[in-house]
Amino acid sequence: MKHIELKQGRTFMGYASEGEDLLSALTKFVKDKKIQAGYFNVIGAVKSAVIGFYDEHSQSYKKVTLNQELEISGCLGNISIKDEEEFIHAHIILGNEEGKTYSGHLFEGTPVLLAEFNVQELTGEKLVRKFNEASGLFMWDI
Ligand code: ZN
Repeated sequence: MKHIELKQGRTFMGYASEGEDLLSALTKFVKDKKIQAGYFNVIGAVKSAVIGFYDEHSQSYKKVTLNQELEISGCLGNISIKDEEEFIHAHIILGNEEGKTYSGHLFEGTPVLLAEFNVQELTGEKLVRKFNEASGLFMWDI
């Protein structure tokens, strides 16, 4: 396994308010705070959601739009640098009123009802995404 070793930086806790787009709000937050590496998690609820599944063969995401209020059972991800900007990679698990779940890669188009987050900054080395032709994905260059 390839890896780098980082140190704990700042720790943040907060929430996104009704109507804020979850991915956009997280991205704006890490850009405003200049968090270049780290990880986070979120719990709360959304009004609707756009999630995706990466299809290796077509090298594209199959998107699913969920037009219903759902619980954010868990949303987790990491922060690194892509195209010289702070970049969020997030996955989300969403639960409905029957306790059944949907999950996938988080896309914009996911307005929250309320979402409580915590973000842990990591420092020491740069974690940069570069395009990998074999996978069609921007992978960490380490
Ligand atoms: Zn993903």
